[in-house]
Amino acid sequence: MGEILTTCEQSGGVHAILGRLNRFRSPFTFCAYFVDGLLIDTGPSRAREQITRITDTLDPKMIVLTHFHEDHAGNASWLAERYQIPVFLSKKTGDELRKPQRIPFYRRHVWGESGPVHGLELCDHISTPNHILEVVHTPGHSHDHVVLLEKQQGWLFAGDLFLGKRLHYGMAGESVPLLIASINKVLSHSFDTLYCGHAGIIQNGPEALRSKKDFLEQLVETSRKLFEQGYSERQIARKLLPRNIMLEIMSRGEMSPTHLIRSGIQSG
Ligand SMILES: [Zn+2]
Repeated sequence: MGEILTTCEQSGGVHAILGRLNRFRSPFTFCAYFVDGLLIDTGPSRAREQITRITDTLDPKMIVLTHFHEDHAGNASWLAERYQIPVFLSKKTGDELRKPQRIPFYRRHVWGESGPVHGLELCDHISTPNHILEVVHTPGHSHDHVVLLEKQQGWLFAGDLFLGKRLHYGMAGESVPLLIASINKVLSHSFDTLYCGHAGIIQNGPEALRSKKDFLEQLVETSRKLFEQGYSERQIARKLLPRNIMLEIMSRGEMSPTHLIRSGIQSG
């Protein structure tokens, strides 16, 4: 087991809890955010000790989760119990986490399990003493995904909507066309800073999201053309995307470039 590094940076009223761990000879990052008593995502249970050391200094009053994945929900129950505070979840996230499905070995190994989370249903916004955060449903990365928008400040708490300007592999169940539609929906709002669930703080959020959208649209278009020419989904993935063989093997194919290609082609 490699060591787990976590730091907490404060800027403009937002605390960013940034973490990094190494597994399968690859670095994995995670980020949670804290603003005005609200903890947005809770990090993986693998980093529970390190995260709790930070949240103990922040005095959280409530928690909200962007989606059910264990690197975001991993400490929700633990922290809610510890501070006696509520967890807010979208209905779909709540359904997933009431009795979470057993996750594959590699995800348990990297992140640890989240265990069940019982929360309150997230409505169309969540209020803290000084902020109103609008909830925008953004399926694609996962079917239950939401982002939080603080319009006055121009903050977008994006969960896993962004991740990077390019995407090289997808998880089974991920939908690129839905992701593109969700990015378009978010881009119709105005905001500046994007707080990503893995990449940290991105200063020009709209520009970053537009680059991501352009990449995905291009990927779908080229994939469909190649598919019409007779290439298989796997061949297209090899042609267009780099491989992380270790990740594919360890995840037994749950994380693979082919999932991205397939979800783009199948919706056409
Ligand atoms: Zn995720």
